[in-house]
Amino acid sequence: MEPYKDLGKSYIDGEWKEGNGNRSFDVLNPFTQKSIFPFQSASELDIDEAYTAAEEAQKEWAETPPSQKRNIFDEATRIMKERKDEIIDWITREMGGTRTKAALEWGLVLENIRVASGYPFTMNGEIYPSMIPGKESRMYREPKGVITVITPWNFAMTLSMRSVAPALATGNAVVLKPAEDTPVTGGTLIAKIFEEAGLPKGLLNVVLGKGSDIGNYLVEHPVSDLVSFTGSTPVGKGIAVRAGERMKDVSLELGGNNAFIVLDDADVDKAVDAAIFGKFMHQGQICMAINRILVDKKLVDEFTKKYVEKANAINVGDPKDPETELGPVINRSQAEKINSMIDKAIEEGAELLTERKTEGNLIHPVVLTNVTNDMEIAQNEIFGPVATIISFDGDEEAAALANDTDLGLSGAVHSGDTERALNVANHIKTGMIHINDQPVNDDANAVFGGEKQSGVGRFNGDFVKEKFTTTKWVTVQHKDREY
Ligand code: NAD
Repeated sequence: MEPYKDLGKSYIDGEWKEGNGNRSFDVLNPFTQKSIFPFQSASELDIDEAYTAAEEAQKEWAETPPSQKRNIFDEATRIMKERKDEIIDWITREMGGTRTKAALEWGLVLENIRVASGYPFTMNGEIYPSMIPGKESRMYREPKGVITVITPWNFAMTLSMRSVAPALATGNAVVLKPAEDTPVTGGTLIAKIFEEAGLPKGLLNVVLGKGSDIGNYLVEHPVSDLVSFTGSTPVGKGIAVRAGERMKDVSLELGGNNAFIVLDDADVDKAVDAAIFGKFMHQGQICMAINRILVDKKLVDEFTKKYVEKANAINVGDPKDPETELGPVINRSQAEKINSMIDKAIEEGAELLTERKTEGNLIHPVVLTNVTNDMEIAQNEIFGPVATIISFDGDEEAAALANDTDLGLSGAVHSGDTERALNVANHIKTGMIHINDQPVNDDANAVFGGEKQSGVGRFNGDFVKEKFTTTKWVTVQHKDREY
């Protein structure tokens, strides 16, 4: 089995092509900061070609029998397993996460394909009872058509696959633009797998380039009826406006400011372990990562002491090394942004409890205490290995603090009393919340999504199927009708 080649090219109508855009990019290894490969951006003409191919291919795909579609997904899962090591290597090399994170991501991608493989058999319509004699009233379920998918760099392969697999499985074609930092794992690796699995040409197109150069053109493209976007809240808002002006549907999975709450009857050791994972997993670069740790004032000293000990024990280094638990953040500008957030928090009165050390893009774990919810670091998504501890007095204040943000993605509540934890969770406005666990959870069958400015729409299971399809009401008048 040959490793995949041409991964730095756009994939349009089944052809691997150097983009014709006028900008070139270097994909850098986040740890070594050395170039992995350069790539050329797709031009507007390349993008037009991708949409034309998608529109054409989709017509036949919509008519393709479910079992034929299913075979392609089954083949894709087989290839995922066969190429496991190659895929995990790419995930580590391009995103800078640890081998553990890469293996977890591989498993999530596999699950996304498996779950989607069942969708072709569930594109059922309905027959409604009619109020008019002799009328048969039908509801057809149909694919949307061509779906534009735009994704970020942090869990690039999962976040692209969780749109691409259900979009194809429900009879759509796709134009995918991965993040410029992760064109392979977010884009061309997925295209290679489906190409090898026998997906007809034109159904999945990958155009490479920077969002600020080609994003508007993609979002506004008249061929596509739905933009499935995962990324930051500011970019998502711009996409919502542009799509809205064209009456296009959107699915928006955006940023989080997730609270991890420790009530006064919680098991502190378990809470500490969960909060270490939920904060430092993939360097905190996960939309569901803990952004604020809220601890009841009765436990805050014990929790903080134990938390700092564990944070200091995290093995920081080269993500290729299987012993590494915390690798680099994605790029230099993210490292600078995170460090300036820490500076500002300290300026605003936060106390630093860990040694501050940044080597290249490696930021060693940071724990800040005496944080208050009005500080910039508590109000903004950190997306880095920086834990902020805020103390509260009683359950009501915990829920109020958790809600004091524009975002509402995920969260967690720890307590020895499940009903008490549920009561707090029920007062928090988020799309997802977890009891006695941490907020980083995904499951291709469960409902995923955010409230407030964390997004619009839901992913996974029946929810994504609903979003990626549309309905048509069709009636047949069997008997003569009097008007
Ligand atoms: P980003 O918004 O900067 O970029 C995401 C994608 O959008 C990239 O492909 C980028 O090239 C593209 N883009 C940028 N400007 C665009 C424009 N004007 N039009 C169209 N596309 C454009 O986000 P990021 O920094 O890559 O990712 C981190 C963010 O993503 C965080 O806020 C994180 O919380 C969020 N995220 C959310 C989820 C979720 O499921 N809710 C999952 C992962 C990441």
